[in-house]
Amino acid sequence: MLMVGLTGGIGSGKSAVSARLAALGAVVIDADRVAREVVDPGTDGLAEIVEAFSDRVLDAGGALDRAALGAVVFGDEAARRRLEAIIHPRVRARTAALAAAAPPDAIVVNDVPLLVEVGLAPTYHLVVVVETAVATRLERLARDRGMDRAEAERRIAAQADDARRRAAADVVLPNDAGLTELHAAVDALWRDRLIPYEANLRERRA
Ligand code: ATP
Repeated sequence: MLMVGLTGGIGSGKSAVSARLAALGAVVIDADRVAREVVDPGTDGLAEIVEAFSDRVLDAGGALDRAALGAVVFGDEAARRRLEAIIHPRVRARTAALAAAAPPDAIVVNDVPLLVEVGLAPTYHLVVVVETAVATRLERLARDRGMDRAEAERRIAAQADDARRRAAADVVLPNDAGLTELHAAVDALWRDRLIPYEANLRERRA
């Protein structure tokens, strides 16, 4: 099994890359999705959050109210750490379980927006960084997601910059052109780097 970490700034095109890799045969694990699942209603993750922050972080239906939780931890370093101590180990465990359930020769791609910020690069065989000019990202986020420019800029400023992500990258995928170009680059990555790397790991194990 080859473990690939996929990251990039908000709006850089991680989802577009992981969708293409999934179509090529990769097993994709989306960290944002896993982070939501570990605090779904009925999970012990959600129970711990309520224990730590009270039921004011729940909505009327008993699900996690992200805005309310955000307001509680905003600007409170200790609260943010307490929340991360609940969520991160569960995300790690569930990610490991999902990877373990993949076939032994799988190429597993873990899409992790904050991979570099959290220091996860050493836990993958290969780190792929999607890199797109900030102006292009702002444009796509406004066009496709209706995100306000100031909000998008604020989020970009809160993440690592390109230089820092690049320093952690084994492969940089530029995504300033169209989707056709991106798909061609992903296909080449799959064929020339990921497939041979996985085959090599398997050979060494045999
Ligand atoms: P987030 O960090 O918010 O999850 P992301 O890195 O996953 O973002 P995507 O959702 O893949 O980014 O891309 C942002 C938007 O830009 C999407 O609507 C996507 O369809 C579009 N997009 C991505 N790549 C291209 C491209 N090469 N040409 C045109 N649009 C693109």
